[in-house]
Amino acid sequence: MPHIATTNPATGQVLKTYEAMSTEQLDGAIERTDLAFQQLRETTVDQRARWMHAAADLLDAERDEIARIMTTEMGKTYAAAQAEVTKCATAARFYADKAPAFLADEPADAAAVKATRAFIRYQPIGVVLAVMPWNFPLWQVMRFAAPALMAGNTGLLKHASNVPQTALLLEDVFRRAGFPEGAFTTVLVGSDAVDRILSDPRVRAATLTGSEPAGRSIAQIAGRELKKTVLELGGSDPFVVMPSADVDRAAEVATTARCQNNGQSCIAAKRFIVHTDVFDAFAEKFAANMAALRVGDPMDPDTDVGPLASERGRDEVHAQVRDAVDNGATVLCGGERPTGDGWFYPPTVVTDLTPQMRMWSEEVFGPVAGLFRVSSYEEAIAVANGTSFGLGSNAWTRDPAEQERFATDLDAGNVFINGMTTSYPELPFGGVKNSGYGRELSALGMREFCNTKTVWVGEGAASAGAGAHAE
Ligand code: NAP
Repeated sequence: MPHIATTNPATGQVLKTYEAMSTEQLDGAIERTDLAFQQLRETTVDQRARWMHAAADLLDAERDEIARIMTTEMGKTYAAAQAEVTKCATAARFYADKAPAFLADEPADAAAVKATRAFIRYQPIGVVLAVMPWNFPLWQVMRFAAPALMAGNTGLLKHASNVPQTALLLEDVFRRAGFPEGAFTTVLVGSDAVDRILSDPRVRAATLTGSEPAGRSIAQIAGRELKKTVLELGGSDPFVVMPSADVDRAAEVATTARCQNNGQSCIAAKRFIVHTDVFDAFAEKFAANMAALRVGDPMDPDTDVGPLASERGRDEVHAQVRDAVDNGATVLCGGERPTGDGWFYPPTVVTDLTPQMRMWSEEVFGPVAGLFRVSSYEEAIAVANGTSFGLGSNAWTRDPAEQERFATDLDAGNVFINGMTTSYPELPFGGVKNSGYGRELSALGMREFCNTKTVWVGEGAASAGAGAHAE
């Protein structure tokens, strides 16, 4: 049986457990979500926008209580959880306001295709399964749910097994906001139920945010069933610092970029690739900043870094650090697993890494930085692109020509110059290589789960023309 439970990572205490849904209950949930699609597709985008705004207002009004639940379930600091709720409300409003434009008919060159009228119409495709991770338990779901619901699709959420309360409260928020019963449904099931759900003909597509193995598994099922998928997988983002960079600022941002969310972010900078001319200055400041972070109770406003979300996760991070150290790497700060309750891990910087060490190529999902010395732009690019991942990337340089080169040469879904990778509703988000495929956020994210329909009209075109319709 899957273990679906709230366990406080700061204490290790199991606070609430849930029974996984039976096959019959799961079938009923899929049925409700499919019936809701038949209803939602008939609604206007303006109606859905009113409901989405109401959802945003509920998130704002209930921010503190939602944040408390998130912190209790997965250990992020309370301040970070509050900010996450606010970000979700912002994204909900963004899609509520932008959906009419994103979904509007797009005119094509009618004369070129021998039509009197030709255009593209964006329409919903049906029930979309969302398999989501615990690290941003509200944001990861909202960045799928807001565009999907605004497009007229319905959502079936299989959230990570350690954040059931957050999963259930989101369903409740959308229901209270006015969306039809079943438009957004949480199913409490383990990952073993994903095959059954995605094989169901009523489920049209899936989006996963999670690990590479989960991505492979879902892509296989979806391939067999011929269903569309968007996969947002892991990353080991490079953070390159070149000689012209503002080294103090880079070392400051590097600390946040590595340790935000207790080091458990897919787009955290994980590998710090520093030109030898500024290596020593950067290393000293970065290690000092990392060592100065306060690790402790995530509810305490003075805490910078809370616990890791699970004991297994902490064991894995420590094993990666030990593997490096046992093979000759140097620890500049941290690296010791604390004793006592809770799954805390100190901010750690490790250097003198070699390709034989796990930290060279694997993602480290905790507050642990790998520090690499390089002696040229070419070497920086080779190290930065030298993993199987390609999610985010960061480059620090004040040389405009070098900025241009980084923007082209970094093999990643995004490049942030002189700043850290962040997701915004306005910008597409996703990866290349083993970090996945497809895009979330922006108009592109909404259209991933739309039928991009070509409409060609010969004789007798109506005078309204393309652009009048937004479903
Ligand atoms: P995970 O183990 O893959 O879990 C994510 C979700 O997938 C959970 O709901 C999990 O369910 C489910 N799952 C796990 N194995 C599955 C399988 N074989 N088939 C179907 N579903 C499966 O990932 P995690 O350890 O919780 O999260 C960390 C990973 O997510 C990291 O690699 C991180 O980089 C990545 N991530 C990526 C992004 C992005 O946008 N690219 C964002 C955040 C996180 P259970 O909980 O029931 O096992």
